[in-house]
Amino acid sequence: MTKFTEKATAITPNREIQPDEYFNETDHLIYCSKCNTPRQCRHELQGKVLIPSIRCKCQQEIFEQEEAQRKLHEKQMEIEHLKTSGLQDKALYDYTFARDNGINPEIKLAHNYVSNWEEMKSNASGLLIWGDVGTGKSFFAGCIANALLEKGIPVLMTNFSRILNTLTGMHFEDRNQFINSLNRYSLL
Ligand SMILES: [Zn+2]
Repeated sequence: MTKFTEKATAITPNREIQPDEYFNETDHLIYCSKCNTPRQCRHELQGKVLIPSIRCKCQQEIFEQEEAQRKLHEKQMEIEHLKTSGLQDKALYDYTFARDNGINPEIKLAHNYVSNWEEMKSNASGLLIWGDVGTGKSFFAGCIANALLEKGIPVLMTNFSRILNTLTGMHFEDRNQFINSLNRYSLL
């Protein structure tokens, strides 16, 4: 400590001070004039004093905001990608809980399936939806697919005839590859 005090009188900033900074005479570090927190820190390594630059509080806040923006954007891109791959029919994009008209109270089962997804997945529980044509089975399934895709979960919404059509005319190895490709979806 004595050594430090002796040296302290001669200490000057180790880099040029920017217009929005000042040199703090107490700890001999460069500070931000806006938030009054240091833009440098002091380390001692093998007898040498290192004064690397760090982010002051306001720079850190901006950095975190930008990071959050970047992550959000990445997540949105990922969800877009999952949707493109999982919703092979553009009309399915509109099958969402937000568009539910509330006519069929059974929609709560679809809601439950989504809210308990982790449990459903670990128990390998599917959902069997049956009913007459036009009763909204596809809508229910679409709502589940969209809600899970929004959470970043890989879902494929397809139908039996589409799968059969894809398989027809495929070589044996391609068929295996196609069937295996279905495994990368958490929900089919
Ligand atoms: Zn600052």
